[in-house]
Amino acid sequence: MAAPRACKETTLGFVERTENWRLSRQFFPSKVGGKPAWLSMTDIPTSEKLNCRKCGAVCVFLMQVYCPITEQGTCFHRTLFIFCCRDPTCHKHSDNAAFVVFRSQLPRENEFYDYEPPDEDVPLGEGKDCNSSGGDVTDDSLCAVCGCFGGKKCAKCHMKSYCCREHQLIDWKAGHRKECGSTGSIANGCKQILFPEFELVTESEDYHHEDMDDGGKEESHVQDDTGDKSEINVAELEKMALSESKEDRQFAKFKKRTDHEPDQVIRYQLGGQPLLISCENQPQQQDIPPCSSCGSERHFEFQVMPQLLIHLDVDSLEASIDWGTLLIYTCAKSCDGASAYLPEFLWKQDIVPESNK
Ligand SMILES: [Zn+2]
Ligand SMILES: [Zn+2]
Ligand SMILES: [Zn+2]
Ligand SMILES: [Zn+2]
Repeated sequence: MAAPRACKETTLGFVERTENWRLSRQFFPSKVGGKPAWLSMTDIPTSEKLNCRKCGAVCVFLMQVYCPITEQGTCFHRTLFIFCCRDPTCHKHSDNAAFVVFRSQLPRENEFYDYEPPDEDVPLGEGKDCNSSGGDVTDDSLCAVCGCFGGKKCAKCHMKSYCCREHQLIDWKAGHRKECGSTGSIANGCKQILFPEFELVTESEDYHHEDMDDGGKEESHVQDDTGDKSEINVAELEKMALSESKEDRQFAKFKKRTDHEPDQVIRYQLGGQPLLISCENQPQQQDIPPCSSCGSERHFEFQVMPQLLIHLDVDSLEASIDWGTLLIYTCAKSCDGASAYLPEFLWKQDIVPESNK
């Protein structure tokens, strides 16, 4: 995704069905669901690094956004990855414990990809071994179920890799018990655990200033009113009314801004301001921890919208995975750390339930 620069305009992302091959890592995709299309093939996160901080299970791939920083040589390729726990009960109100975020970046000249970009219209040929283009890890050594680092092999056939016992069990039940030892692959444990797969396509937000929220106008109106010498302090009154309906106002603002493009699933604006869904639980600067690698402050980079939930097949009558909006903050220097996958920060903002008001 081309990151917008000086003008700070917002780029919107939408989900679209596409051929599977377009979403493989050689095409540097932005995508939702399926397995992660890793950027760097070293230091691929292990199950321990993907543990849900509520239940300890391995978080599965939610989405990735390809967002190079063109003026920074080390970020010629750059992708942000979000993982989340599949257990709905781990998704608590305004709590990020069921999410894990990583940033990976590479210079143009690197050991994994050609200097020239791939031909976007040609699938990689069957003959071309795209799995062994350098690096410590090949796609075969990734977990057959979730696609993260597969440190354990099936003890019987030594063919399939898994990140943890749970995922091996899922695959075994899904059919590996029948195919184990034979060639060909029918087992598909992935289906039970991965989110539906989509490409993320982007476009600039077409939003005009005259459509902007009317906050400015209203304030000047209040100023005028305090000028007349009536006994009721209008400004005071307005302030009270405002605090009562503050929640609804922030939500109304959110809705107004998104109604133009109701299908948007992400909003990207590097170093910009997120569109908050509620006036409650807004992140303050001190809530955003500095980069754990270089200590620089983190800035806002993009947010995931509630619209994405519609495409994830997570709705059930009981508890389901849910969020108001997910705000992603990344190292303002986009530093190169000791690992090829550096943790970044996610803030989960929800709409306050009626019962808590
Ligand atoms: Zn969990
Ligand atoms: Zn796995
Ligand atoms: Zn086996
Ligand atoms: Zn950093």
